[in-house]
Amino acid sequence: MARYREAVCRLCRREGQKLFLKGQRCMTDKCAIEKRNFPPGQHGKARRPKTVGYGLQLREKQKVRRLYGIQENQFRNYFEKAAASKDVTGAALLAMLERRLDNVVYRMGLATSRAEARQLVRHGHIGVAGRRVNIPGFQVAAGQEIAVMEASRNLKAMARALDLTSHRGVPPWLEFDREQMKGRVVSLPRREDVNFPIQEQMIVELYSK
Ligand code: SF4
Repeated sequence: MARYREAVCRLCRREGQKLFLKGQRCMTDKCAIEKRNFPPGQHGKARRPKTVGYGLQLREKQKVRRLYGIQENQFRNYFEKAAASKDVTGAALLAMLERRLDNVVYRMGLATSRAEARQLVRHGHIGVAGRRVNIPGFQVAAGQEIAVMEASRNLKAMARALDLTSHRGVPPWLEFDREQMKGRVVSLPRREDVNFPIQEQMIVELYSK
């Protein structure tokens, strides 16, 4: 399935909330959710029947999938691995999404959005435990060091991102030294480390039908 290449603000408008897909713009009053928070399309403003049951579950899954920038089949794979694990399925699913290398780069503040972080990883600017890794979905492990590769430390885009994200802080399961441009996975993420409003149980119910 091809990656979504249309205007990403439509995705936020479809879900009715900010998914922070456009980096710095999401923090300004240019954000489409600030200006027109109704579903996109010709009939976006029309009254719609209240979404219930399956519809709600589907929307929750789409919201999370779009938040992390994952394609449908890959998201389903994550779910199946989570369901096969010994942990609570919903929490295991979120932990796997958080452990993606592009998400870690985003969380460390090296990029203003996950899409930007994915680009940094794909272009080989990031190393894990001393080795270049260019797979955005790479699952980081506890104790691993994540660093900007030596040759990429002067990238203007990264300096700009570090400047713009300086207020954001790093989640407790990660540590990051902004001067050295490297950090570490202190521990694996727990459910309470995901601070975005997500009802993962709805996704579990959707896929369990
Ligand atoms: Fe979503 Fe960001 Fe666009 Fe706002 S600016 S609608 S948060 S992608």
